[in-house]
Amino acid sequence: MGSLVMATASYLDAKQRAGDWFIRIDDIDPPRAQTGATERILASLAAHGLHSDQSIQYQSKHSHHYQAAYEALQPDLFYCTCTRAVLKDTPIYPGTCRSQRTPIEGAATRIDVSTWQPIEIQDGYLGKQIFTANVDFGDFIIKRKDGLWAYNFATAVDDSRDVSHVVRGQDLAELTGPQVGLIRALGKLIPSYSHLPLLKFPEGDKLSKHTHAPAINDNDAIANLRLTLAKLGVIAADAPTIEQLLENAVSFWQLSRIPKSLEPFPRAENGC
Ligand SMILES: [Zn+2]
Repeated sequence: MGSLVMATASYLDAKQRAGDWFIRIDDIDPPRAQTGATERILASLAAHGLHSDQSIQYQSKHSHHYQAAYEALQPDLFYCTCTRAVLKDTPIYPGTCRSQRTPIEGAATRIDVSTWQPIEIQDGYLGKQIFTANVDFGDFIIKRKDGLWAYNFATAVDDSRDVSHVVRGQDLAELTGPQVGLIRALGKLIPSYSHLPLLKFPEGDKLSKHTHAPAINDNDAIANLRLTLAKLGVIAADAPTIEQLLENAVSFWQLSRIPKSLEPFPRAENGC
């Protein structure tokens, strides 16, 4: 349900701007990917009338884009051999390995942010946000020790390629500083960001697999969608079909109407 709320929000925002809404599967972490999970997500989105306007993108197929960006950033990259144990008590990377500028087998690649100017963005929902390198975030990982691209890096590269508006949950708000910094370093256009409140249980934990949120029932799609619109403060005329309901909702979509915290999702609300 939490994912449906965020997907619907980004869909309505894109449609109201007469833009394309598209689906990107962030699957660069194969060890964590679950068999069948992608198919279930796509089927669920389709059941709720959320169809991608472009062919579905997969981060696992974007390695060439990440490699090109990696090479462009090369002068600022260094190779970190710190162990997890050493970094355990330092929330911000202290820059220990900044002088290691030639590749080291089995090292993680980080970007040196020591000279980055403060990053200021106008968040469409949260308003002005300022992120300061070395204070809010440190030299972060671009490529992991195991050779996989880091999520932050892959997402920034993709968003810099063909995304004008990013609508996502506030759990990702703190990643905006590093991501915008990367896009700026790449000399690309920075998208507009809106970070919306997450759907939570009454106890305050967000809905996820870890908190045992029930899977949504795709057979109740229209009921799920009505509930989603209510949570997002969209006061649209009801309609008998999903397509009509979404169309009505597009004209009523307004970021400023979204409550600062969404009405909690009762644990017993298993209709979804
Ligand atoms: Zn290090």
